[in-house]
Amino acid sequence: MEEPGKFVTALRLALRGEVIGQGDAGYEKARAVYNGMIQRRPAAIARVADVADVIACVKAARMAGVTVAVRGGGHNAGGLGTVDGGLVIDLGRLRGIRVDAPARTVRVEGGATWGDVDHATHAFGLAVPSGFISTTGVGGLALGGGSGYLTRSCGLTIDNLIGADVVLADGRVVTASRDEHADLFWALRGGGGNFGIVASFLFRAHPVSTIVGGPTFWALEQAEDALRAFQELILTAPEELGGFFAFTMVPPVPPFPEALHGRKVSAVVWCHNGKQDAFDRIVKPLISAVPPLLHAPHELPFPALQSFFDPLYPPGLQWYWRADFMPKLSDEAIREHARHGATLPTPHSTMHLYPLNGAAARIGATDTAYRHREALWSQVIVGVDPSPAKADDLRKWTIGYHEALHPYSTGAAYVNFMMDEGNERIRATYGANYERLQIVKRAYDPDNFFHVNQNIPPAP
Ligand SMILES: Cc1cc2nc3c(=O)[nH]c(=O)nc-3n(C[C@H](O)[C@H](O)[C@H](O)COP(=O)(O)OP(=O)(O)OC[C@H]3O[C@@H](n4cnc5c(N)ncnc54)[C@H](O)[C@@H]3O)c2cc1C
Repeated sequence: MEEPGKFVTALRLALRGEVIGQGDAGYEKARAVYNGMIQRRPAAIARVADVADVIACVKAARMAGVTVAVRGGGHNAGGLGTVDGGLVIDLGRLRGIRVDAPARTVRVEGGATWGDVDHATHAFGLAVPSGFISTTGVGGLALGGGSGYLTRSCGLTIDNLIGADVVLADGRVVTASRDEHADLFWALRGGGGNFGIVASFLFRAHPVSTIVGGPTFWALEQAEDALRAFQELILTAPEELGGFFAFTMVPPVPPFPEALHGRKVSAVVWCHNGKQDAFDRIVKPLISAVPPLLHAPHELPFPALQSFFDPLYPPGLQWYWRADFMPKLSDEAIREHARHGATLPTPHSTMHLYPLNGAAARIGATDTAYRHREALWSQVIVGVDPSPAKADDLRKWTIGYHEALHPYSTGAAYVNFMMDEGNERIRATYGANYERLQIVKRAYDPDNFFHVNQNIPPAP
């Protein structure tokens, strides 16, 4: 950009929303993303007020040759919601939601968080399958796939996408669905932010209201037995049972018992979309076989479980991520997990294994851009701490753990858990769908205008 001042002034005249340039009050706050390890300095952040503003930003950036980053919730591991020297189109003001209860559909604007969606849908006894924390953006999570508590029973977030209104790289707006721009609709379901800016999503919602949720903790010495038994349970359990396996440190706060505060444990955080007695019956064999330190799941509103981790993980912590898709874990892989899980370097660091079987596994590998329908687990290892001085330790621990488990993986990883890991990793992840994604990219963004993402360059 030759004259950033001129570009920012012109943008201010064109938009209803706010444009914050370097040197403006509020710039430091506006440039920040969720991962404190990512520190970038865009030329400007446009807090768009409506779709017309989004179109104006795209056209202005294209004319001026300015690189654009699109920000939904700003949670992305690698900081893809920001860019040095470019324009951040911040969708954070676009969070309108409309629930059509009889039709069981929900229209969600592109800058909403999952907490916004849960709040709106819970009033109608409904929920859209999403992730495990309510502050994550709908935009990034939905476009990458979206796995969470309801994956086994209702599929991934993308499996519940009915349509999307998209601002394309030339400023046009199209609706993508099974009937309109079907190639774009296919690519949006897993292809990330490569194809345009989604102004609004239309999702299918499911009857989910009061669930049984909460943690079970086991001592580290029981980790191998607990993980093996959880895997066996999850392979055959009714699909209403969701949840994930973790290594974690018990937070030193109520409601956790004082005796466990700060203790490293292996855990399952459960979400059963059903009654307490049914849940108790399903998990009884596991609890009897591997007696836990604490078993606390109880009936609670779904949004309460969704926001359970929010206070533990405020914005601005240092996060270092590594992930893989895993088939059924062998005994050796479980042993490696127990070995590395015991060495969590900080209280916030963790490892999660999210089950992907059930409804999500019934979709074909080429039916959506996301193709990992055969993997049993989505595994993520994150070194996390408030202090930047710990960044190297977090990196070392995460990479060491990841390298030990990677040989047991499918060779691919969930795009939304990746940092900047290079094009080969992206190619491996999309596999046979990669070339088709390149063809769709050429049709909708031939100049690779949207390239601040896990980038899929257009087909030559
Ligand atoms: C604490 C935490 C917990 C998480 N838990 C889960 C989980 O349970 N399940 C899961 O699947 N993922 C999870 N994730 C990963 C999450 O899906 C990704 O970080 C995702 O990229 C976040 O989306 P965002 O909109 O907040 O991010 P942003 O950083 O704003 O954006 C990420 C990418 O998406 C693009 N994008 C965002 N919104 C739009 C839009 N409207 N139109 C076009 N492009 C857009 C951006 O351009 C960028 O490339 C978690 C992440 C964190 C930090």
